Order: sequence, then structure tokens, then C-alpha cells
Amino acid sequence: MDKQELANLIFPNVTKTIEEYEKMYPERNLGENARVTRFAPSPTGFMHIGHMLTLVIDYVLAKKSNGVFYLRNEDTDTSRTVKGAVEYIRSVLKQYDMNPDEYEYRDTNETKGIYAPYIQSERKEIYQAFIKHLILEGKAYPCFLTQEEMDVIREGQARDKRRIGIYGRYAKYRDLPTKEAIEKIKKGEAYTIRLKSSGDFTHKFKFNDLANGEMELPENDIDIPIMKSKDGLPTYHFAHLVDDHLMRTTHVVRGQEWISSIPVHYELFKTFGFKMPKYIHIPLILKKDGDTIRKISKRLDPEARMSYYEEKGYPYLAVIEAIMTIANSNYEAWRENHPDALFTEFEFSPKKMSSSGALFDLDKLDNISKNYISRLTKEEVYLETAEWAKKYDSEFATILEKYKDYSMAIYNIEREQKKPRKDYTYYSEIKDKTWYMYPEYFISATPDFLEYAIEEVKTILTKYKDIYNEKDTQEEWFQRIKELCDALNYASDRKAYKENPTLYKGSVVDVTNILRIALTTLTTTPDLYSIMQILGKEQIFARFDKVIAK
Ligand code: GLU
Repeated sequence: MDKQELANLIFPNVTKTIEEYEKMYPERNLGENARVTRFAPSPTGFMHIGHMLTLVIDYVLAKKSNGVFYLRNEDTDTSRTVKGAVEYIRSVLKQYDMNPDEYEYRDTNETKGIYAPYIQSERKEIYQAFIKHLILEGKAYPCFLTQEEMDVIREGQARDKRRIGIYGRYAKYRDLPTKEAIEKIKKGEAYTIRLKSSGDFTHKFKFNDLANGEMELPENDIDIPIMKSKDGLPTYHFAHLVDDHLMRTTHVVRGQEWISSIPVHYELFKTFGFKMPKYIHIPLILKKDGDTIRKISKRLDPEARMSYYEEKGYPYLAVIEAIMTIANSNYEAWRENHPDALFTEFEFSPKKMSSSGALFDLDKLDNISKNYISRLTKEEVYLETAEWAKKYDSEFATILEKYKDYSMAIYNIEREQKKPRKDYTYYSEIKDKTWYMYPEYFISATPDFLEYAIEEVKTILTKYKDIYNEKDTQEEWFQRIKELCDALNYASDRKAYKENPTLYKGSVVDVTNILRIALTTLTTTPDLYSIMQILGKEQIFARFDKVIAK
């Protein structure tokens, strides 16, 4: 009776029982091996690469098994909530086309899925029903330790090299008679709710993590807080229990930092008699730094933030590919055999995930990305680049809008062929590699003819203007350059030049070099004939004339 009074005193507004919630959120009706995963970030900052690894694994596990992938907003730590974080997470999911099957978006008032709410701060009543249940069963209790008292306990434990926490004799209010607890609460004393742990630290239990294998861990015996005094919201541990149980999650993919909490989670699930989900604790993400390999750092490494990939304009699928290669050691081999398959067709195997750390290599991403972009059509490259530019380079966006077909022609140089050219690593690089094609940018450029005498350059350009014919095929075009070479005493045959260099002023290479520099300022470019076809006679002559007039 006392317990009932205590429970009602603490939770006067909680009317539903946990059995009612069980009925409200029934088992999911899915195929036998269907996996239910969730992406459950806390909106406490930007999204980093560890989130991405978690997300990709969650997504692949669910999609490959015709299961469910849902998004949960773990916003119980209200003091650390960052404005805009939720929206950002959502935008990343959308960009990467890994949209959740179930979600709740507060700003647009959209909810999908019968396990709602999917925002933890809206689930307070549900958590409290479960906590109330524990109080009624005598498995949780109000603890009146003040912050100062807890500080003293912690300092003492640290000094005596004991385990930190409220357990055993430190759990002062664990056995407080219920009547007294009621009196204290009525007097207005502050409290938190703690689990009344029934574990024994000297006992071990076996736990199987799908990635890390079987572990032997000591039972939890700490009376962990399950509800915070400040706002009546649960701690992460308790929310994890309630949510992943009621939302019928089958697989929890989360960071390694949670491994140390397994004993607590194990006890919580056991206390309620709920089946634990399967766990995949993902490894730390490492990077090569000179000769050493270290943990990737949100503070030091720009590539730790997902915004980095967006700003650079990496294709989303390339980023996912790179993430998949660190998620599973057999992914690359699979990809070789299935070049056109979707990444969601891959059977992710947690055992093939490195437990010691996953080395993320930007060079590898660049390679994947180059290959990826080289296989796109010119229209795709154009659209993606324009999309990127709209966000990050409005001036270039305007140019792209003005020169749509022209830009596509540029992107098509050495593209739709067996071995396409691979010169674009990400979309932000495209301007750096094609700027000279646009009159608006070229106008302020000054070609540098290196060791070539400027009078000689002028002669070549002037003579070339006389013979240039826009309608020439590539062979005819080259033939004409060779004829020009012969006329001006440049060897049209490279071999002949090599054998007797002193007989000539130079070779055909020098002549094409001069044309190339005059038209682009560069000494290496994609196919010059194609460039000239795209520029057109008018622009070509204008560029030559600018040099000739100097
Ligand atoms: N909100 C937790 C975090 O961001 C999620 C951990 C989990 O997936 O259970 O670390």
C-alpha cells in the first residue's frame, strides 16, 4: 500500500500501465529474418563520420532484410541540445537517400509509424509508467543524496581506489522505509529515481556482441539513476530499454563507448523480463597521420565532420562506398564482383568488422569518387555540379546556368568511352579544372608561354589562324598542325626530331603546346581537339588575337 502511495505521489499523472503500452506497441509483423534498426543520434552537435558509419550499417541491415529502419531523436539531455542539429541530421539522411521508414518531424508536424512518438522528450509519460512500475515492485526508489554528498562519495572512492558509483553502503536511501521517503517528498526534498540493483559485481555473465563476439562481463550492482530530478526525463540507459523494447528494435548499432554500459542494460532488460536486442558496437574510426595511426578527431580533422564532404561536393554514393569499405572487410571484393549492385544488396556481416578500429582513408575515398564521377553521364555531372554550386559558389552557379549545353560538352570530353577520363574528384573541383573554358573567367587570365619566344609564338598563332578549319575531323585537324610544323621548320614527326633535334626549331609537341597555352593557359588539359571544338572559332581566334596583340 505504501508503495502505491509513493508511486502515485511521484507520478500523479501516469495512468497507463506497462501492459497497456505493450498492447499499444505490439510486436512487428515482419518476415522471419527482418531486422529492425534505428538511427538514434542525440541532437548535441554536428554529424560526424562515426554517425555515418552507424547510419550506413543500420540502413543496410534493415534494407537487405526487408526490415524497418527508423529515426529516433534522443533529446533527453536538454542542456546539451544544439539548435538546428535535428534539421541537419534529417537533411543528411535525405541527401544520402537513406530515408527512414518511420520518423517524427516536429517542425513540419509529420509522423510516420505506429511506434510514435519517436522524439524522446515526447515520451516522458511512457518512461514514467515503466519507472512507476519498478517503484511498485520495489525495484526502484527515490534517492535524496545531494550533489555535495555525491561529490564527497566520489572523492572518497577515488582516493581509496574503489569503484565509482552509488552501490552497497553508498546507496544510503536504498532501504529507506517507504513511509519516510513519502514524508521527504511531501516536504519538498529533491530526489532522483534510482534502480535498486540486484546484481553482484563478483558474478560474471556472458554477453554476445555480434561484432566483438562473446564477452564475459561483471554484473552491474550500481543503483544507477534512471530518472533525472531536473526534468523528470529518463537517463540514456532507461530510455534505451523502453524505446528499443517498445519500438521492437532487433539490432542496436552504436559506438564502442557504450560497451561499458552493457552490464547496466543487461540488468535493466532482465529486470523487466524483456528480450534484449542484438548489439553491434562499431569500432573507432582511425586515420593515418604521418607514420602513426590515430583516432580521427572531431576537433583536429575536418574530414571527421560530415559537412566536409558536402562542402567539397563528394558524390553521396562515393562517401557511402568508402564507409562500406571500412564497415566490412569483404565489401571491396563483393563490389568487384557486383559492380552495378546497390550497396543495400550487400549482406553486412558484423563479424567482418574490425573491432580494433576502422582505418578511414581519404585517398581511397578520392579514388572511389573519381571512378564514380567518371561513370556518370554528362547530364548527371552537370546537374550535380549545378546543385553543389547553388549552395557553395553562386557565381559559378550563374555561369553554369548560362552555359548549360556548353558545360555538358566540356564534361563529355573523354567521358562516354571504355576508359573514361578520371579528372574530377568532387564537384567543387570541376570549376578548378574547367574555368578556362568560360570567357567570364578566361578574360582575366594571362597565358605564360614559358621558354617559348613570344615572337615565335605570335608567328605560330597567326599562321595557324590562316589554316584553321572548324569543320575538320580530328585527323584532318592534326594533319593541318603537322603541315604547319613542316612550313615553320618544326618536326612533324616526333621520332625524326629525337634523332636530329638540331635540325629543327622544335617539334609538333611544341606547336600544340603553344596552341594549348594560348587557349587555356595550361600545359596539360583534356583532349585539345575537343576543347577547340567546344570553344568554337570565334573564341579561339579571340584568345589568339589577345596574345598576338601583346
Ligand atoms: N543517442 C546515442 C548517441 O548519440 C545513441 C546511442 C544508441 O544508438 O543507442 O550516442
